[in-house]
Amino acid sequence: MLDAATSSASQSATFDAVIVGAGFSGLYQLHCLRNRLGLSAVVLEMADGVGGTWYWNRYPGARCDSESHSYCYGFSKELLEEWEWSERYPDHAEIRRYLNHVADRFDLKRDIRFNTRVVSARYDDAANLWHVATASGETFTATYLITAVGCLSSANVPNIPGLADFKGRWYHTGEWPHEGVDFTGKRVGQIGTGSTGIQAAPVIAEQAAHLTVFQRTANYSVPARNAPLTREFVDYVKRNHPEIRETMLGTPNGHPFVIENRSVFDVSEEERLALYEEAWEKGGLQFRATFRDLTTSKAANDTAAEFLKNKIRQIVKDPAKAAILSDIDHPYAAKRPPIDTDYFETFNRDNVSLVDLRKTPIERITERGIKTTDAEYELDIIVFATGFDAMTGPLFRLGITGRDGLALRDAWQAGPETYLGLGVPGFPNMFTITGPGSPSVLCNMPVAIEQHVDWITDCIAHMRANGIACIEAERPAALQWSDEVDRAANATLLPLAGHSWYLGANVPGKPRRFMPYAGGMAHYRQLCADVAAKGYPGFVLERALADA
Ligand code: NAP
Repeated sequence: MLDAATSSASQSATFDAVIVGAGFSGLYQLHCLRNRLGLSAVVLEMADGVGGTWYWNRYPGARCDSESHSYCYGFSKELLEEWEWSERYPDHAEIRRYLNHVADRFDLKRDIRFNTRVVSARYDDAANLWHVATASGETFTATYLITAVGCLSSANVPNIPGLADFKGRWYHTGEWPHEGVDFTGKRVGQIGTGSTGIQAAPVIAEQAAHLTVFQRTANYSVPARNAPLTREFVDYVKRNHPEIRETMLGTPNGHPFVIENRSVFDVSEEERLALYEEAWEKGGLQFRATFRDLTTSKAANDTAAEFLKNKIRQIVKDPAKAAILSDIDHPYAAKRPPIDTDYFETFNRDNVSLVDLRKTPIERITERGIKTTDAEYELDIIVFATGFDAMTGPLFRLGITGRDGLALRDAWQAGPETYLGLGVPGFPNMFTITGPGSPSVLCNMPVAIEQHVDWITDCIAHMRANGIACIEAERPAALQWSDEVDRAANATLLPLAGHSWYLGANVPGKPRRFMPYAGGMAHYRQLCADVAAKGYPGFVLERALADA
């Protein structure tokens, strides 16, 4: 084991592993490498606290769409038993409290460098080491580089002409000011109606003088039915952890519910509507699990889509607004399905208006507000709920170069190429937690993250036990995996939402490639386990020179 030491010659601190990011992934990876394997590891984190995505996403209404009792680590029985969530869906502040609790409980903060932004990570072929540099000029050297930067951490502010002219204030939801934003008496414009915009609009509308929602693509949403957890439920969860986790690990998406094994067409229309109604009343992502074929058959999906569009028409009283909100062009759940608290009801408020950008697109931002082809909307504040340069964006920001000085950005010019979402050809000893090609965002994230971190930890343990100095994904394996990622996506309705961030379509110039693995978490877990059990086929393993 290398000691965490600073060599006076190079002024570079040397570790076995540099981990980038102190969210769910980075914290658990540090725990595994340091506390389980006894390696020296450091986490470099650009924020001044833990939380990752949840450190930055503090916008009004920000809360998780996974149910709290499943949105947590499962690796420690004691941790599972001692932590109590307060609501069905935890808000951003409660998730940060949880992650701080984890960091303190496992004494992780002493090995996290906060306020430390990575600007480059370079693989040194001759030394088989990674050199990582930060914005403040510090350098770190490590055998392993592990990216724990999340999938949705690179804010996408659209390049709308005139933003610099705007005399009011503007904010992106993913970089929300810690002190909050006071909307009292303000005229607010919100661009974006994805999961974030759908959470934010109702809360902003309660405070603002007026909220104008600029909608480009109409979206489905199912009520979250968020509520405080009862003592009874909290105790039930404590008593039944093993069973709950067994369910989560057995499902394609890592949630604590099973997908019903019935087709939409196994039941009468009357029965189907009753089942949808029941799922609507229950609320949450579970709506998608009402029938097994909702995500794979367009005809089956149409029945859910129609039910949800009818709900919009019933809730929204103004028929013109209802028509714009229910004019949805993609199958239900082909984009990440939002869940909400009073989103559609918000459009019944007198102080909320809706602009259909499909009919009247934004021309520019002016000093007074937003100008569409139809009108100029005077605003004091613009909220960009416009999403992220997902999955690849956070990795490119690290300035990674691999073998022969190849930049990751160049290697992935035509789209990301990974083996299992964990390793990249040309980038030895680099592991990507929830990288492109992994189930990640199609799964309850902590479940996906723990599997990745466990696999990476076991892989590093295997390398060290067997004198293996270097592991690198093979190109043919990565190409085959890309084909499998495409195949898995094409077996679902996901590619039918042509403008989704899953495809990179939300960022101009980004190559269109379906990025997450849609083959299901349970299946993916088995594939990864098989690769490890067979001695890592698809990866080249090289022994240290002295052992060769
Ligand atoms: P998103 O799903 O990418 O939605 C972005 C929204 O902004 C879309 O409505 C998009 O319209 C619109 N938009 C983007 N550029 C625009 C432009 N130039 N002009 C007009 N409209 C524009 O982003 P998000 O809502 O932040 O959600 C991203 C992901 O974060 C979610 O899918 C989810 O995975 C995660 N998330 C999770 C939670 C949770 O668990 N609670 C909450 C929020 C987000 P188009 O559709 O037309 O592109």
